[in-house]
Amino acid sequence: TVDKEKASNVAKIKVVVRKRPLNKKELAKNEEDIIETESNSLVVHETKLKVDLTEYVEKHEFIFDAVLNEEVSNDEVYRETVEPIVPIIFQRTKATCFAYGQTGSGKTYTMKPLPLRASRDILRLMHHTYRNQGFQLFVSFFEIYGGKLFDLLNERKKLCMREDGKQQVCIVGLQEYRVSDVETIKELIEKGSATRSTGTTGANEESSRSHAILQLAIKRSADGSDSKPARVIGKLSFIDLAGSERGADTTDNDKQTRMEGAEINKSLLALKECIRALDNDQVHIPFRGSKLTEVLRDSFVGNSRTVMISCISPSSGSCEHTLNTLRYADRVK
Ligand code: ADP
Ligand code: MG
Repeated sequence: TVDKEKASNVAKIKVVVRKRPLNKKELAKNEEDIIETESNSLVVHETKLKVDLTEYVEKHEFIFDAVLNEEVSNDEVYRETVEPIVPIIFQRTKATCFAYGQTGSGKTYTMKPLPLRASRDILRLMHHTYRNQGFQLFVSFFEIYGGKLFDLLNERKKLCMREDGKQQVCIVGLQEYRVSDVETIKELIEKGSATRSTGTTGANEESSRSHAILQLAIKRSADGSDSKPARVIGKLSFIDLAGSERGADTTDNDKQTRMEGAEINKSLLALKECIRALDNDQVHIPFRGSKLTEVLRDSFVGNSRTVMISCISPSSGSCEHTLNTLRYADRVK
């Protein structure tokens, strides 16, 4: 079938860069757009100083699977990243879509609409292509903050993790909602997003230090009926990662900030290692490196797919962070 063909055509790892427009603050500071984009490459124009203090420009070129410029809409982002993997989660595939980048680079703006669009397509497949085959859709939403798990759909209740020996990860007590219409999913996403950003210490400060994980699971019981317990067939995870610059907060004066920075640094490094191991068909996947990768353990084995969306600011003031983000993405591939 068309779906089967699609499955084999979907790359195991896809790395996409998304550049956002200059914002008001950057324009007010007369910051320039230093990112020149093509369809699958980009050049960063970095201004440097010579010893005699005259300026010169150093160009850094990067090639990725796709580069999405500031004119690209969220709909186009969906089509380029998640749309091709939706059909294959019905074929026992686990897929993960990450947004990586510094705080303010557009991770949440990019990630937030994706699960809703994906669920729309999943429900369409369930109601048409896979009609009466007993597939069920479940939504869960949680965050990892300072190495601990919190349920975003259940008043930020603290959760713990267990492994069942068959490479299945189980988060004890995590609320999973069975959903069958887009409106309910939309409400759950809104609810979880609001819980994330209004946590204990307030708005952006908090969300930049946590990884938010929204999972769509497709389940089915052995005989396809509603009366028997359903088992996971495929899973699609959307991950809005902590701000990549936060991993550098390891020398901060505040002990709490320092610890969180170290935890974020560890998880972003472990993530990179796991994706690389997956890409190289390594048998041993180093997921024990962090809570983030442990939670995603079952999505790093077997027939899985990974999409990394690296978000970047175009401004000269973010040049260093942008280069760090692009180098990270470059190494993933
Ligand atoms: P992050 O989650 O990486 O910290 P956000 O997604 O919150 O960053 O984006 C920071 C700001 O930039 C927000 O106000 C957001 O609406 C805006 N923004 C991000 N990406 C885009 C884009 N591609 N087009 C227009 N505005 C954007
Ligand atoms: Mg954010």
